[in-house]
Amino acid sequence: MIEKLTTAENLRWHLEAGVDETIGDTPVDRFAEVPKAPVPAASSAAVSSPTPPVPGAPKLPDRATARPAVPIVADHLLRESWALAEAATTVDELHQAVAAYDGCALKKMATTTVFGDGNVNAKIIFVGEGPGAEEDRQGVPFVGPGGQLLYKMLGSIGLDRSNIYISNTVFWRPPGNRTPTAAETALCMPFVERLVELIDPDILVTLGAPAAKAMLAQTSGVGRLRGKWYTYSTPRLSRPVQATALFHPSYLLESSAHKRETWADLLAIGDKLADLS
Ligand code: URA
Repeated sequence: MIEKLTTAENLRWHLEAGVDETIGDTPVDRFAEVPKAPVPAASSAAVSSPTPPVPGAPKLPDRATARPAVPIVADHLLRESWALAEAATTVDELHQAVAAYDGCALKKMATTTVFGDGNVNAKIIFVGEGPGAEEDRQGVPFVGPGGQLLYKMLGSIGLDRSNIYISNTVFWRPPGNRTPTAAETALCMPFVERLVELIDPDILVTLGAPAAKAMLAQTSGVGRLRGKWYTYSTPRLSRPVQATALFHPSYLLESSAHKRETWADLLAIGDKLADLS
């Protein structure tokens, strides 16, 4: 026998499952939906095999053409975001392009676009995972509890919002703060990559595992990646950018065991910044 939940129990169950936002005024009973007729392969969006190049379409940068064996996003969708990102010649234009972009499904569920914050002339850029609830409300990255800890830590090496730039691998909050999917990250990545090109920093720092994986093309966890230097290159950067990985500040809030290592990592970042300037 199926036991019926009360409304309060039902809401609690959804909250525990990570559903903490409503995205429509009326509920949709997905179990009652009639299955749709199959969509022809050529028009299916999210997962498809490579499509032939569109005449006149911009050439995909090398990073985009180095696709996984099973493509996670259809070529024409990736081409669209690469073209929009490449057309931006300033951070402001890129911000407008991201705000107008409807290709990433996360946007439909978010309140605001969280593009980036800080000084566009900064020598150091930080890239986190994705906006949380507070960032989604304010439209600014790293303003929640994790952000507050991050700025406290950065203050110890003389960094603040006036001398850094900060953004995320995706520009919209994933529902329930889940990790962005590979497809969501792939669609936003051309904009993130263009952001790094336009800021043209000396140093790139990733915050947390999803950002390290997306930006540094590494598969290990932060525990293995941290404390080392990598190079980040794109076809339009004048020279490779020195890159490193930090534990995500929200993780440090929960597990203080890695605070000591992060302190050492911050000192190394401060030293590198001084060496490069
Ligand atoms: N965590 C992130 O990764 N990014 C934010 O902007 C906030 C929290």
